[in-house]
Amino acid sequence: TIAITGATGQLGGLVIDSLLARVPATEIVALARNTEKAAGLASRGIDVRHFDYNQPEGLEPALKGVDRLLLISGNEVGRRTPQHKAVIDAAVAAGVGYIAYTSFLHVDQASIIAVAPEHKETEKLLAAAPVKVGLLRNGWYTENFIAQVQQSAETGTLLTSAGAGRISSAVRKDFAEAAAAVISAESADDAVYELSGDESFTYGDLANVIAELTGKPVALKNVSAEEHEQILKAAGVPEFGIGFATSTDLAIKEGELFDEHPGTLSKLIGHPTTSLKDALAPALKQA
Ligand code: NDP
Repeated sequence: TIAITGATGQLGGLVIDSLLARVPATEIVALARNTEKAAGLASRGIDVRHFDYNQPEGLEPALKGVDRLLLISGNEVGRRTPQHKAVIDAAVAAGVGYIAYTSFLHVDQASIIAVAPEHKETEKLLAAAPVKVGLLRNGWYTENFIAQVQQSAETGTLLTSAGAGRISSAVRKDFAEAAAAVISAESADDAVYELSGDESFTYGDLANVIAELTGKPVALKNVSAEEHEQILKAAGVPEFGIGFATSTDLAIKEGELFDEHPGTLSKLIGHPTTSLKDALAPALKQA
């Protein structure tokens, strides 16, 4: 039996779609903090169980009979390490033999990207746990660019402070297929998967793709981090958003979102990863 946390989330839903093509629904357990949100999964014959990272006492019973667990990292940044610890402890207590965890690309070498610390801490907890561990080190989601790309299609300008930094992102669906492949593989052993898109791109390439898709020119505005901050501030972007944008661009500039040796993701899913153009086309349909 394979259980999936975050089953009602965007990635989790796609993992389950892909898993249903590989194993019978009766072998899947969907773990959800809001079981009502999982009604669609139950109607497909999947065993839905209540599972809230913030309620540790309920976690072990919910994992009864589970052989393999896919722990999809939580989305409450800053609270995730204790949440993941509660899940790992419960899995060990429940006798789960294998945990796959959605970590971050080359996280052991990352220091700028804001999500790194909690993933590093979780990987450490997993290494110390008496279970087999599959680390799905997912790269940046291409979907993270959508709001910015739509705005750029409207204004004709793409703003960044990432310089010529390259990005090896991939779409959620590709990462989800890889997670489904790993968690349902015949043998489940300790492994680290650095997962990234087949082709990397710079912000300059991104501007070109937007221009191609919209048929309108897009000017790349590559500025310093200080200037980037000032422009966002003047545009009324809240502090958190400014910090996220500038720190992400710095991470890109320093190569933390780039994978020098791509191919593990496409190999796992058995087809090339979705191209940047195909990934962005639906979001720019009305542009
Ligand atoms: P979502 O926000 O769509 O899904 C997160 C899932 O986690 C949801 O199902 C949510 O439940 C569940 N969850 C959150 N808190 C708890 C809790 N306390 N107890 C139980 N379940 C909880 O994110 P995505 O599916 O898009 O992405 C999956 C994960 O990947 C994210 O959580 C994040 O860690 C990471 N991520 C990585 C990115 C990257 O670029 N590499 C970008 C964005 C996210 P509910 O459905 O009830 O809300």
